Amino acid sequence: MSEQQNAPLALTQLGDDERMFRGTVRQFAAERIAPLVREMDEAQQMDQGLVRQLFELGLMGIQVPEEYGGAGGSFFEAVLAVEEISAVDPSVGVLVDVQNTLCVNALARWATEEQKRRWLPRLAADTVGAYALSEASSGSDAFALQTRAVRRGDDYVLNGQKLWITNAKEAGLFVVFATVDPAAGYKGITAFLVEKGAAGFSLGRKEDKLGIRASSTCELVFQDCVVPGNQVLGEVGKGYKIAIETLNEGRIGIGAQMLGLAAGAWGHAAKWAKERKQFGKALVEFQAMQFQLAEMATEIEAARLMVYNAARLKDEGLDFLKEAAMCKYLASHVAERVASLAVEVFGGAGFVKDYPVEKLYRDAKIGKIYEGTSFIQLATIAKLVL
Ligand SMILES: Cc1cc2nc3c(=O)[nH]c(=O)nc-3n(C[C@H](O)[C@H](O)[C@H](O)COP(=O)(O)OP(=O)(O)OC[C@H]3O[C@@H](n4cnc5c(N)ncnc54)[C@H](O)[C@@H]3O)c2cc1C
Repeated sequence: MSEQQNAPLALTQLGDDERMFRGTVRQFAAERIAPLVREMDEAQQMDQGLVRQLFELGLMGIQVPEEYGGAGGSFFEAVLAVEEISAVDPSVGVLVDVQNTLCVNALARWATEEQKRRWLPRLAADTVGAYALSEASSGSDAFALQTRAVRRGDDYVLNGQKLWITNAKEAGLFVVFATVDPAAGYKGITAFLVEKGAAGFSLGRKEDKLGIRASSTCELVFQDCVVPGNQVLGEVGKGYKIAIETLNEGRIGIGAQMLGLAAGAWGHAAKWAKERKQFGKALVEFQAMQFQLAEMATEIEAARLMVYNAARLKDEGLDFLKEAAMCKYLASHVAERVASLAVEVFGGAGFVKDYPVEKLYRDAKIGKIYEGTSFIQLATIAKLVL
């Protein structure tokens, strides 16, 4: 084979399977999600029928291997799904993102064979997952967590509270990080698989949020919650490694969520600019408007290249740490800027709930906060480039 034939494809060029997959998700988002967006946002509630459809379409177990009932897809496909869904509703985007890039991913990599046989088919079929690391006093400094796990016979007893847990209301399985030895610092952190309904485990307050309001964000409360020893995920004391590595990958998913949001907002703005007339012309005929839309499109393209590159590096088993942090940092910045400009393109109509850009503007803010704030991404990038 010549050297040229070995050259990698352009990043945004999709393979046949990828193109078909994206087309299916795009159509699903337009036909099934779009009509529910406003109602779910106002009710602060994910539509249960929609969650079922996401499972039926295989979008909740994209990377679950076929032998465990999943779609056996790539990480890149998970990223494509999050992007396409988030272009229509970033709340649904984060539901799919946490399921695939954090929960399924953590189990696929660290679960025992017995745990995989028990949980992966369910995660692919009907069980939503949640990922519980943050606490009131440990956000950016995640390893300062205080939830305690004490060994009792073959079991562990969990006590403490988790805060800000996405998908908590819908979830049947929680990946929970607790410490078996506070004196050991991060080396005490251990991951546990906790089932909904476990004795001593309950949901606390549900947050009333600025954006992604249909996505549930709740407190988790553990009061003498007994978790069987065979539900430790990975090794005792190695939970920090699971957290670091899953979040490194998860950041690409959030990059995809923000990329999708920006692309969605741009699409609405471009359509509006073509339809709305002022001074006897469509807005898009004014050069100032054209340049604004062109600049947004350029920023979106840059974010897309970075997100796709990070995802493809991950699928190839290559280093992607720097690229993951950079793509999340940039995509969340682009999403906030594009959504803000989209509101302006709509004028007064952009400021009211009758049009979709008002919600996307509110939804964009979270990209700079969760799975590592923008400052935390910059700290990671600085460590890697300096
Ligand atoms: C809607 C939502 C969903 C979430 N979902 C989940 C979830 O599913 N699971 C989960 O475990 N967590 C989740 N989180 C928690 C989220 O990851 C944290 O909120 C985030 O990591 C920031 O932590 P914090 O809120 O404690 O802010 P802090 O860590 O207190 O940060 C406050 C500010 O200080 C800055 N800062 C902190 N340290 C430094 C530093 N060293 N240098 C410079 N600046 C610094 C931060 O960048 C930020 O600007 C969610 C949060 C929200 C709002």
